[in-house]
This record gives sequence, C-alpha cells and structure tokens, in this order.
Amino acid sequence: QYPNKPFLLAAPDEGDDGRAGGAPADTAMTFAALRERCQTLEARFRLAGLRPGDVVTVFMGNGVQTATLLLGAMYSGLIAHPLNLLCQPSQLRYIVEHSDTRMIFFCGETSDAITAVCAELRAQGMTREIALVHTAPDAVDLPALPTLEVARSAVPETTRVGTGDDESAMWRDAAAPTDVALLMYTSGTTGAPKGVLLSHHNLVANARNISAEHRLGPDDRVLASLPLYHINGLVVTILAPLYHAGSAVLTPRFSARTFWREAARLGCTWINVVPTIVAYLLNGDEPRGLDLSALKFCRSASAALPADHHRAFEARFGIGIIETMGMTETAAPIFSNPYEPARRRIGSVGLPSGAEAKVIDREGRECAANEPGEIVLRGEQVTRGYYKRPEETAKAFTADGWLRTGDLGYRDADGYFYINGRSKELIIKGGENIAPREIDEALLRHPGVLDAAAVGVPDSAYGQEIVAFVVLREADGANAPDADQLRAHCLGELGRYKTPKEFRFVSELPRGPSGKVQRLKLLAPAPD
Ligand code: ATP
Ligand code: MG
Repeated sequence: QYPNKPFLLAAPDEGDDGRAGGAPADTAMTFAALRERCQTLEARFRLAGLRPGDVVTVFMGNGVQTATLLLGAMYSGLIAHPLNLLCQPSQLRYIVEHSDTRMIFFCGETSDAITAVCAELRAQGMTREIALVHTAPDAVDLPALPTLEVARSAVPETTRVGTGDDESAMWRDAAAPTDVALLMYTSGTTGAPKGVLLSHHNLVANARNISAEHRLGPDDRVLASLPLYHINGLVVTILAPLYHAGSAVLTPRFSARTFWREAARLGCTWINVVPTIVAYLLNGDEPRGLDLSALKFCRSASAALPADHHRAFEARFGIGIIETMGMTETAAPIFSNPYEPARRRIGSVGLPSGAEAKVIDREGRECAANEPGEIVLRGEQVTRGYYKRPEETAKAFTADGWLRTGDLGYRDADGYFYINGRSKELIIKGGENIAPREIDEALLRHPGVLDAAAVGVPDSAYGQEIVAFVVLREADGANAPDADQLRAHCLGELGRYKTPKEFRFVSELPRGPSGKVQRLKLLAPAPD
C-alpha cells in the first residue's frame, strides 16, 4: 500500500535572509516516484560512464532533489558523497581531491566555490576528470549527465570497494550489502575531517535500529531540518523513514521562525535537533496558536545537550526530549535514551542502541560501573574504516576490534552511559582530569551567560590551567557579568580547583556545521 504514499515533502523556502526563490508550493514525492527516479538515474549514471564503486558528490542544501541524488547514487551501486556546505576553501580542496569523486552535483549557492576549487586543483596538476553538474535542491527534473572522457576510452573498470554475501542491500542488487554506499567526512571538530566508509549493511542496520528504538512506522513524519551532508540528517531523517515507510519534511535550513509552524502545518510526529537548535528555540517565540499535539518526541544528538536546556525545553514546549549519541563512524546513533519517558535520564546519552558498548581504561581493561574511561563500540553499524587513511583506521580500533570513540565517560550501575568530553579536549590540571563540559555547564547556569566553552592552556605550575570563553546574553547590558562575577559564580558551583583562571569574552564560539563547539580552535585560529 506504500508506493503512492508521499515519502519526501518540501516546504517552500522563505529564507530568513530574505533570499528569493524556492518552489512556490509544497512538493511531495511518493515512494513509487522515488524508485522511478532512482532507475532513471541508474541508467544515466551508466551512460555517463560511471562504474560501481565510483564516488558521486552532492554539494547542495536540503531539498527533494538533493535527497534523490544521494539515494539514486546508492541505488546504482555508486558511492554517495554529500559534501558539507560550510567547508572552508582549504577543506573543500582537501575533500574534493581526497574523495576521488567523479561527478559533482552543485547548485547556485555552491557554484562559485566548486568551480574555483576544481580550477585550482587542475592548476596544481590534478588530472582526474570531474564532471560538474548544475541543478538545484528543489529542482523538479533530474539533470542530464555529461559523458566522462574516460568512459569513451577503454580504461579498466574501477575496482569495487567490497564484495558481500550477507543480507540483501537496501537498494536491491546493484550493490552487495558490504559494498560501500556512502563516503561521509567527519565534522572535523578535533582535526582534519576523515572520510568514513559506510556500507549498505551499516546504513540499513542503523535505519532499522532508529526505527525500532523510536517505535516509528508508516504514520510517522519527521521535520528534517538538519543538513543531509551530516550523518545525523541523512541517516536519521531520510534513511530511517525510508526503512519504516514513514515520511520526511525537508526544510532548506533550520529557521527558528518557521520551525514550529512547519511542524504543525505538515503534521510532523517527531523532530530531530542538535543542542544549538534547542538553544535557538528556547530563545525564540512561543509557538502560539499552533497545534503541535501530533508531536510525540524530540530527538537530540550530535553534541552534549546541557541539562538545563533539556529541562527548560520540556517545560516550555511540553515535548519530551530523547537524547542520543552518534558518530559518522557508526552511521549515526549508537546510544539512545529509551522511548518511555520515565526511563529517560537527563544528562545521559542513554543505553547502547543496536550495538555493544563498554568503557575501557588506558590498558584496555573494562572499567567498573561509574569508573571513567574511554567509550568503545562494536556493532553492525560500525564502519570498516576511513578512506585512504590506514594509519587513522588502525588507531581507531582496539586490537580486538572495538571502535574507539575518543569520548571519555562512564557507565552507571543501570547500564546508562554518560559522556564527559573528548580525550583530545580533556583538561589535565595538576594531574587531575577535568572535563570541560562540567565547567561549560556551570557557566551556563549563570543567567547572564548565553554560551561557554572551557579549554586547557599550558601552565608552568599545574601543567595546564583552565580558560573559559564566554558569550554573554547581552554584551553591553547593565546585567552583563564581568570576570569577577563569573569567578565568584564558578567558585560556588565548581570549587576553587576547577574555577577557570581566566575568562575571555567573545561574540560567538567557533562551531562546526552540526553545531559542535570546535574547542581546539578557540586557542589556535584556523588559517582561512
Ligand atoms: P572529528 O571526528 O572530525 O573530530 P566529530 O567527532 O565531531 O569530528 P562527528 O562524527 O560528526 O564528528 O561527531 C561524533 C562525535 O560527536 C562523538 O564522538 C561525540 O564526541 C559527539 N557527540 C555526539 N552526540 C553526543 C551527545 N549526545 N553528547 C555528547 N557528545 C556527543
Ligand atoms: Mg570524531
């Protein structure tokens, strides 16, 4: 009964910035139409000279066309590669070069950036032919594809990135389940982005897992406002609904102004957010006069959700938050709080979801309950490794095959996991480990503080000292606290040892595309 059911919907783009354009009315694409488009794309990709295992890049904002191209590439046995719209020129150069992409779909917004990067790479001696295809996130027709030069000459077939034998692929027999379906670069929060290889099997495993975890079915509809070039947006709000035959409303970007209105108007039953969105919504207007009764829950992931924001959101909007934790390396979630509100725990990322997880110490021994260490994972959704980064891949796994998350935390006696921060960001003062998150949250409890991030700086006496970067709610208002007031506040909340030595006031914190604070950038500004 599903073929004629709408799967992807898009609301017209009004744009907060007054940008003109966008479809004049809501568009909807059914499951049957999607299949037909995937078949058309498969034929066009073949004619263009693309072979199984070739990488196809989509460099566009959210829209039905963007999602279709990504799904169509996977369906055709190619490797879909969504490219982050917010990449700096140097990152863009690195990724276009490193990914070995053969074809890039771009739109008006990304046109200048992509032509400049390709010209530059060619000037630097890149001989690989890349077909550039212009379309738009909300384009109604599939684009015609140029034929690659190499397809005309007889070049040996690109090797397939894997061969598989288990469960059948989500996209039928164009690919084997262990073939790579997606090349997705990590957020680059702690260094250069790494290209994670995810197989059809990894993706299907997590799509199934998300659907089961949140009890989703054909009547469910998600407001998909997170970017599809991030693993959370793509797997949680497109692949999971595809798996459970639900539907997704794609918005071109997150907008606090239209968020609740679109959710209500299009009858969404769940929303998927990151902590920055929670903060924006808390700062935004009341959803007055809107019927949000269809909304069953709000799912949060990508970064730690401050406990105060969690409580404030639930109290103000009456919608429960399910906090989850995921990584690009695990095709999105690996931990989730339970569906039943009474079993959820604020501040915890929840229980392992469709995977095994444990906490290990430096020697690799499993820690007891409540004992801190590094979280490691094992499961069907876990990547086989990074593209062309064998050393990074080797470092990412323990000798017995568990993925090292690089996240520090602990498991409580009931099996709930807690994340304190990343090992690369841990502050070690006088031999004592201090999680920056504890300091951030203490500062956020001050009414004058809008945003905060603590980092460790070298110190001759203690090895490291704590510096807090603070964004004030009203920078010049009469109620804006000064450094002394913040120090007094921290002394009360954290004690002397953990109180930052210095407070630096900034207008905003550097954040990646998924809303994560790039703590390590606070001290060393990026070159471009
Ligand atoms: P890079 O690996 O390039 O430095 P990144 O780790 O931020 O970037 P992602 O794969 O997008 O790239 O993010 C995964 C990380 O996000 C996790 O390892 C964890 O640190 C963090 N994270 C995700 N969800 C949560 C959460 N609910 N609470 C705390 N941290 C989270
Ligand atoms: Mg990471």
